[in-house]
Amino acid sequence: MTEDVRDLIIVGGAVAAQTSAIYAARSGMDVLVIADEYGGQINNTDVVENYTGFKHISGPELAENYLEHMRDYDVEEEKGEKIVDIRKNNEIFEVENESGDVFESYSVIIATGGHRRKLDVPGEEEFENKGVGYCAVCDGPLYQGETVAVIGGGYAGTEAAVYLSDIAEKVYVLSRSGVLKGEEITREKVKEAENVEVLEEALTQEFYGNNLLEGLKYEDENGELQELEVTGAFVEIGTVPNSDITDLVETNEGGYIKVDREMQTGTEGLFAAGDVADWGAQQLIVSGGMACQAALNASDYVKERKS
Ligand SMILES: Cc1cc2nc3c(=O)[nH]c(=O)nc-3n(C[C@H](O)[C@H](O)[C@H](O)COP(=O)(O)OP(=O)(O)OC[C@H]3O[C@@H](n4cnc5c(N)ncnc54)[C@H](O)[C@@H]3O)c2cc1C
Repeated sequence: MTEDVRDLIIVGGAVAAQTSAIYAARSGMDVLVIADEYGGQINNTDVVENYTGFKHISGPELAENYLEHMRDYDVEEEKGEKIVDIRKNNEIFEVENESGDVFESYSVIIATGGHRRKLDVPGEEEFENKGVGYCAVCDGPLYQGETVAVIGGGYAGTEAAVYLSDIAEKVYVLSRSGVLKGEEITREKVKEAENVEVLEEALTQEFYGNNLLEGLKYEDENGELQELEVTGAFVEIGTVPNSDITDLVETNEGGYIKVDREMQTGTEGLFAAGDVADWGAQQLIVSGGMACQAALNASDYVKERKS
């Protein structure tokens, strides 16, 4: 085996990547972590209250803890560019970034998570960052005392509504289905917040304004077009997996990477963990568990080939 080829490359910069890196380093692998940015989705989350051992911690603080923990180990880091391709040449993986730099390894873990899904309606692009946003925690404070809307009544939508209810004067939640989804405890908080109004079976059709967002149009449960005057609208309708970086994996209809019990993809030595993988609940604790498993199996895989 070639000595300047690393044992493992991990692509990603959040909980799944950093957990994998810790387990891999502890099992004696030489590890390179490549990320465009650190923190991931939890960095844009207000509070986390369901991660064992932490009754209440802010998303950014938890993200910082992960990074610090990883840095206790001898892990090499490359930050600032996206990976655009992963190939396999004989037994060696070639991992290429946007500038065309290629890094080599015997195994790879894809831990690239997901990005926010867009609504794809007129005005969404025009008013992006001019009222339309995808991160309530990042941009919510700009709407102090104003009227805002949250599009989406699921896990992220209900969390965003609770967060915004302390900032905005009025928060509308437009839920496509008849009921709110997400965690029961968060749904209860939405119901209790006096300044939050849930519009069920409300299909957002268009954003409008004049340079800045002034409102949105939606179809109500009777199929009639209604208008809401809002200065901010947060689209919280789920995530799209960042799986489009290699042809070496199979994905399901949603684009999530298929893995087996070992977290291995269809290609030997290529693993996936976290929200990018087709596996269970999209939660920190699940991502961390998958990442642990992927790293331990990558370690076994490489050790077997080196022996
Ligand atoms: C609003 C919201 C609230 C949430 N609240 C909770 C909660 O309270 N509790 C909980 O357990 N979970 C919560 N989650 C879910 C949790 O955030 C995810 O399960 C977790 O972030 C998944 O981690 P990940 O490492 O797989 O991916 P991500 O967090 O998506 O991170 C992916 C990482 O990979 C990097 N990356 C992406 N593509 C590339 C590429 N091509 N090249 C290099 N790097 C790349 C990204 O920059 C990022 O660093 C919440 C999610 C959202 C959206």
